[in-house]
Amino acid sequence: MNPAPEDILKKSVQYLKSIGPKRAESFGKMRIVSVRDLLFYFPSKHLDRTTILTAIKAYEHLINGYEGELTIIGKVYQVERIRFRQKQILKVQFRDISGFFECVWFQGINYFADLFHEGEIFALSGKPVLSKYGNLQYTHPDFDRITEEESNNLINTGKIIPFYRIPKELRQKNIGDFSLRKIISSAVENYSALLEETLSLEIIQDQNLISLPEAVRNYHFPESPELLHAAIQRLKFEEIFYLEILVALRKHNYKTSQPGNSMKIVSHLVAEFLKTLHFQLTKSQLKVLTEIKKDMESPSPMNRLLQGDVGSGKTIVALIAMLIAVDNGFQAVLMAPTEILADQHAKNISRMMNNLSKIFSGRVIKVSLFIGGQKKSERINKLSGIELQEADIIIGTHALFEHDVKFKKLGLVIVDEQHRFGVEQRAKLLNKGIAPDVIVMSATPIPRTLSMTLYGDLDVSTISEMPLDRKSIKTFLRGESKLPDIYNFIIEKVKEGYQSFIVYPLVEESEKLELKSAMKYYSDLSKTFLKDIRIGLIHGRMSWHEKEEVMSLFLARQFDVLISTTVIEVGIDITDANIMLINDAQRFGLSQLHQLRGRIGRGTKQAYCILVTKDEYLAKNKIHDLDYLSPTQLEKQKTMVRLHTMVQYNDGFKISEIDLKLRGPGDIFGTAQSGFPELKHINIINDSEIIMSAKKIAFELIKEDPHFVNNKNLIIKKNLLSHYSASLKYSKIA
Ligand code: ADP
Ligand code: MG
Repeated sequence: MNPAPEDILKKSVQYLKSIGPKRAESFGKMRIVSVRDLLFYFPSKHLDRTTILTAIKAYEHLINGYEGELTIIGKVYQVERIRFRQKQILKVQFRDISGFFECVWFQGINYFADLFHEGEIFALSGKPVLSKYGNLQYTHPDFDRITEEESNNLINTGKIIPFYRIPKELRQKNIGDFSLRKIISSAVENYSALLEETLSLEIIQDQNLISLPEAVRNYHFPESPELLHAAIQRLKFEEIFYLEILVALRKHNYKTSQPGNSMKIVSHLVAEFLKTLHFQLTKSQLKVLTEIKKDMESPSPMNRLLQGDVGSGKTIVALIAMLIAVDNGFQAVLMAPTEILADQHAKNISRMMNNLSKIFSGRVIKVSLFIGGQKKSERINKLSGIELQEADIIIGTHALFEHDVKFKKLGLVIVDEQHRFGVEQRAKLLNKGIAPDVIVMSATPIPRTLSMTLYGDLDVSTISEMPLDRKSIKTFLRGESKLPDIYNFIIEKVKEGYQSFIVYPLVEESEKLELKSAMKYYSDLSKTFLKDIRIGLIHGRMSWHEKEEVMSLFLARQFDVLISTTVIEVGIDITDANIMLINDAQRFGLSQLHQLRGRIGRGTKQAYCILVTKDEYLAKNKIHDLDYLSPTQLEKQKTMVRLHTMVQYNDGFKISEIDLKLRGPGDIFGTAQSGFPELKHINIINDSEIIMSAKKIAFELIKEDPHFVNNKNLIIKKNLLSHYSASLKYSKIA
């Protein structure tokens, strides 16, 4: 019997022409093991004659004031090293049929000099300028080598050439642009026809898609620009469609697995609690509460994402939901990603519960803190309190996942800063109750298209406004030379009752990275600049009790300044701390910077965030309009964009949108944690139309046929089982 086509594709790449065991091993390191894997290793870009200019045309463009990117194909004419003010410069002259142009390199001279030899042909892209001698000149351009034949095909017959990322594993085995193109070309020729369709005919026709083999072929070696576009569209659709199928399955299974609890939502307890608050809930908080209450009342289990920017007041909303659960005779859990945060929640909530002691059937509502690092006797005590329902509200960390934590009657699970937890962990906690209601909270605001995709199995509530009395935080970017002034500012502000955070990236000095460390600077600063004020230190290597003590002292205003690592990144709420100095700010990601900044500006005072970087260049240069940077520019200026984004924006949604742009579609935060496959083709921001239609079709399909029994859906079931098995465990299909 002949093997099935899909089985042939499972063969090792080693069976392909010009791949031996050594090269196969290198491919393996890139996670390309089978022939099928190789077929799905797509080009990072293509070259097409409509985007290429001759040297003379490009020159005319420059004369006319054009400042954008240009691509020219040229043959190496001369390679020379020039001395210029003590330094060497590499200059490579190229020619094409119309004339000459040149490229210069100021760095990595030796490396680049080795890559260009007389007579070789390259495609060069970048933003050329006119040199002072009037030559068309590129500085550090992007370049790709092509063969003479390819160059002719490209220019004369309009053939489109693919370019692949070639990681060092392959380069070391002498696989460069030419050889990889050859290897893939022969694989596409011999094997792409064997690819089995993964979408039903109905969907393919409805969505006007091309077939999978055709898409794969044209993504690699497009017959025309239109077919290249169609190929990409097809792969995008497929990718997001399967993700949405997984999401829809998850939702379906959660809603139908078990009936949940139906709670009475008119609560005397909550009414009394609201009277004890010294502020009024915002309209937004009230709106999300209505949504939450509706879910709690309904017998099907709640599965809701509560989104809201840092400082928007999610905790109080969560607490009200917990009180409803408690009033209905259930236990409620609040889970936090760090011990400090769990402790802070426990302290605040216990304090608030004390004001309520008379109302709740004559006893105090019992709040229990459960974290790792507690003494054994304490732990045993707490475990039995949870199991016997002596504890009503249980607040804890990852420690709550442990198997000996048993609840008597768990009705509500709240996960704070949910992006810090994996889906697997959440699932563990949910299994400790009988279909408990679930609220996951996130201060990492994400654009709608992303939340729809990643959290499509959740209903979403958003707190869209800040409490009224907030002033927006002022953010500055400074070079390190300004540190003395900044310290003086901090000292001045102490007189006005300000407390400050000073954040460093690491605990101890690390020579390799030359990063600042909290410990070293704590001891330096307490002897120098900050010797006249009171400073404290907190970092992740401290024991839980040490951390807790420092935080209590800071909260009680026993320190003016807290020197810290990122242990304070999430959730911490200290109203009087209104200055945040972040050192080596270029080391942090955008969402991390936003979270850190979110620690201040939680009261009525004007808050200040100061980002400090070693690189004075970063501190001084401005980026004018972030919306109009090309992808290459963005790439080069990522660090700068991150820092300037912080200065320019306070709005977490805007910041996360830029963050997504910077990270690119393949690296969406939380995808790994979400248990869904990584997205390679879809761009969450730009492809919203495809996402919408894929989502619609996927959700309708699961609603109609959740077990894939219809004939037309068998193809989808089969593909899910063979290619998405890892993600399926959270979405079980029958
Ligand atoms: P986050 O959404 O970042 O978790 P918190 O729940 O920690 O924010 O709330 C930030 C601060 O705002 C807390 O000190 C909280 O008591 C306060 N707060 C919450 N809601 C309001 C409100 N409606 N008016 C004024 N302050 C509020
Ligand atoms: Mg919070």
